[in-house]
Amino acid sequence: MFIGHFAVAFAAKRTAPELSLGTLFLAAQLADLVWPTLVLLGVEAFEIKPGATAVTPLEFTHYPWSHSLVALVGWGFLLAILWLVVRRGTPWAALVIIGTVLSHWVLDVISHRPDMPITVGGAARFGLGLWNSLPATLAVEGILFALCVALYARATKPLDGIGRWGLWTLVAFLAIAYLATLFGPPPPSTAVVAWMAQAMWLLVAWAYWVDRHRALIRRSALTGREI
Ligand SMILES: [Zn+2]
Repeated sequence: MFIGHFAVAFAAKRTAPELSLGTLFLAAQLADLVWPTLVLLGVEAFEIKPGATAVTPLEFTHYPWSHSLVALVGWGFLLAILWLVVRRGTPWAALVIIGTVLSHWVLDVISHRPDMPITVGGAARFGLGLWNSLPATLAVEGILFALCVALYARATKPLDGIGRWGLWTLVAFLAIAYLATLFGPPPPSTAVVAWMAQAMWLLVAWAYWVDRHRALIRRSALTGREI
């Protein structure tokens, strides 16, 4: 899954408004953000096999430190503790961070073939294989993304042009990058994939920038109108 993870981040803003969209991007995509570094270090591995699934030619052979449930619990706690200690955030927002990090595992289990580990060393692998169908993947991820972006756009308002156009160019960029990976040619090498994945850190920075230029909207519980 790709834009589905960003969708969770957009939606989570409403549950903990004190969290920047950038922090939520970081949490939702933490697994895929640490993964390329582990691949480049030779700790984790994958192969390029066109036709591996209907959606991606990537076959994830070994990624227990970035993608096992147990490792993600650890990553989630690490990020939450940093949030509490460095940013002096609330425990509720720390819980939202952990939940957002773990959502990555749930969404990847839904989309991947059975390649998602539970523990770092165990042999059990899970995956429901949404990626075996391109139309089903597009429908599920596309609808999820559109709904969650709408939730964020409704929960916040732009303070200036950066807040307005920064958001919509970010949304358009995510959609175009997603379609390009779905319909583009298979990547030339695993190293190219890993370095392109490193570029996702820029999306985290982009989300921090956009969020700083948007303000939360307070709405009346009765009428739903802005107050
Ligand atoms: Zn992933």
